[in-house]
Amino acid sequence: MLTHLISAEQCASCRLCCNFQRTSAWETPALAPGLVERLRAQGIPLCVREDGSTTFALHFPADAPENFCTNCPVLNPAIGCTLPRSSRPIECRLWPLRIMRTPSGALAFGLYDACPAVSPAVREQIIREATSILLPELRRIANEHPCTVRPIHPAYSIIWEETPQQTH
Ligand code: SF4
Ligand code: SF4
Repeated sequence: MLTHLISAEQCASCRLCCNFQRTSAWETPALAPGLVERLRAQGIPLCVREDGSTTFALHFPADAPENFCTNCPVLNPAIGCTLPRSSRPIECRLWPLRIMRTPSGALAFGLYDACPAVSPAVREQIIREATSILLPELRRIANEHPCTVRPIHPAYSIIWEETPQQTH
């Protein structure tokens, strides 16, 4: 959705959002049922979270230090994500934007602060698009795929938050 703002070259030298530590394992994306079937058939390790969503199972050796990083199982570090762009998980297609929910239950959009592709100009453009042309689609995703809506987290700046009037 935001690929026109984030260059493939920048992602190729980063891969940050396809690489996880134990403390960021909650960020592995929720997978659509059709994709789950295809990945299972390919032997990709998957697991089911407490909220019922299926995601990638990450491998952390028992003796690995706390800051040990492991790749998403479908990442090829040399070429990037091996899934066709159109079948990637919704959260991956939205990145570095994340649909979130505040403690009061309001819908919010978070922007991942550590993404090196988010310059001040890109940040402004993401905010503009997320709160205008993309807003209906983001609301639809939040309604139809509640597992992709995550609690707000300090790694994300809240760039928009729904006010009570906006819900009607
Ligand atoms: S964190 Fe940003 S620059 Fe890095 S791979 Fe993800 S989208 Fe690309
Ligand atoms: S599915 Fe693809 S884009 Fe998403 S985390 Fe895994 S490798 Fe990255």
